[in-house]
Amino acid sequence: MDLKSLIRDIPDFPKPGILFRDITTLLSDPQGLRYCIDLFTQRIIEADLKAEYVVGMESRGFIFGSLLAYQLESGFIPVRKPGKLPAAVHSIEYALEYGTDCLEVHQDALQVGSRVLIVDDLIATGGTAAATAKLVQKIGCQLVGFGFIIELRDLNGRKNLPDVPIVSLVEY
Ligand code: 5GP
Repeated sequence: MDLKSLIRDIPDFPKPGILFRDITTLLSDPQGLRYCIDLFTQRIIEADLKAEYVVGMESRGFIFGSLLAYQLESGFIPVRKPGKLPAAVHSIEYALEYGTDCLEVHQDALQVGSRVLIVDDLIATGGTAAATAKLVQKIGCQLVGFGFIIELRDLNGRKNLPDVPIVSLVEY
C-alpha cells in the first residue's frame, strides 16, 4: 500500500508558503490506518526499539503513539503544551523561529532508567522531538529511539536529535 497517496497536501497552511502534510486522510482510511500501524510496529520491532513506554507529543503524536503502544504492549505517556496536565509536571522550554515554546510531562509518569521511545506524526526541524528527548533525559530515562510516520528530509531534523536509532515510514 502507498501511504503517501493517503497523506493530503495542503498549501499555505498554517502560514503562506508552508505545504502542510495532512494525516487526517490517512487516519480516516480503515485499511490505510491498519496498514500504517502494522508497518510502524514491524519497523520498530525490527530496529529493536521496543520500550516500556511510548512518549507522544500533543496532539498528533497521541494518535500514532497510543496505537503503537497498544501494539508493543507498552504504556503511553502524553507530552503536552503548558497548563494541560493536571498533576505535578517537569517542563522544558525550547526555541521556535520566533520566541520559545514549552512542553510538559507528569513527574510521576517516568522514572530514572525507564526505557522510552519517542513518537510523533512528523519530524520537520526536529525542535519538538529534540525538546522531548531533553525532557525524558533530564528525568534520567533511557531513550531507545524515535519513531515518526513522516520525515521531511530537506530540513534535516535528524541532526538535532541525540544519537539513537530513528524510524520513519514516509519521506518527502
Ligand atoms: P519540528 O519541531 O520538527 O519542526 O515540527 C514537528 C512538529 O510540528 C510535529 O509535532 C508535527 O506534528 C508538527 N508539524 C509540522 N509540520 C507539519 C506538517 O506538515 N504536517 C503535520 N501533520 N504536522 C506538522
